[in-house]
Amino acid sequence: GAEGIGLCRTEHMFFEGNRIDAIREMICSDTVEQREKALAKLLPMQQGDFEGIYEAMEGCPVTIRFLDPPLHEFVPTEEADIELLAKDMGKTVAEIKAIIASLHEFNPMMGHRGCRLCVTYPEIAEMQTNAVIKAALKVSAETGTMITPYIMIPLVGERKELKFIKDIVVRTADALIKDAGVDMKYHVGTMIEIPRAALTADEIAKEADFFSFGTNDLTQMTFGFSRDDAGKFLGAYYDKKIYENDPFAKLDQVGVGKLVKMAAKLGRETRPELHLGICGEHGGDPSSVEFCHKVGLDYVSCSPFRVPIARLAAAQAAIKDQQ
Ligand code: PEP
Ligand code: MG
Repeated sequence: GAEGIGLCRTEHMFFEGNRIDAIREMICSDTVEQREKALAKLLPMQQGDFEGIYEAMEGCPVTIRFLDPPLHEFVPTEEADIELLAKDMGKTVAEIKAIIASLHEFNPMMGHRGCRLCVTYPEIAEMQTNAVIKAALKVSAETGTMITPYIMIPLVGERKELKFIKDIVVRTADALIKDAGVDMKYHVGTMIEIPRAALTADEIAKEADFFSFGTNDLTQMTFGFSRDDAGKFLGAYYDKKIYENDPFAKLDQVGVGKLVKMAAKLGRETRPELHLGICGEHGGDPSSVEFCHKVGLDYVSCSPFRVPIARLAAAQAAIKDQQ
């Protein structure tokens, strides 16, 4: 049943503190060398974050999602910050402004984000793998409990795309583990949050140890609603009884749920032991948790304050099932 609640969500680590300076430097780099220099600054910060998470989780499984948001979310908007970045990078203010302008996208949520960032800049995947595995090796050695990291690649829509990134992860991780001379396991999985990924889940499962359904994006892309703007017009749909609920809050079992159910089935046809979960906001909604249980998902990931509700909903779903 859907009992395994509480895998850690860490993708927003990047937003905080001095990480932002290093990530801005990475974004504004012209060459691979410059980008690698900026990533080398990020590595110890990320590694430190992950060590803290592993320590807090005391040997429980930890899933780490690779960088997901569009890059423009990180660039400075204030003149003073732009000037500072220009100074740090030895560029002119005009050059930095030109880079920022070049990052503009008409539809950033469907743009250069998620795993697409690692296809363009494979060195990001390499740095993040280094941070995840080095942290796991260090905390495992210190605590005497071997950690098993779960690396989750977001926004995949095609098997070859996942394979491209997974190959970097495996190459980097295996070299670190071999050097350390220990027997550490790790898993590489993906989010199913693009309709194409759900439709081709049998193919994607060839490369994935686990799926986590990103039902925020899956809802956005299945309905064709922008998750940032739909609130402006959905009220009219509730008034006219076209939709009864906000599909971003309560999973649309008829449409989006059909994709989840189908992808779970297709995925397990390829890989019967495939670990399946949900990590969209719906993971904290009781009726959605019940649905996830019914279609065979194993775990729910949700915001910490929703864990008690999710746990109760999972328990109720399991009891209902037995009855
Ligand atoms: C999702 O899309 O459901 C998800 C968990 O990712 P995010 O909300 O960060 O895009
Ligand atoms: Mg998403």
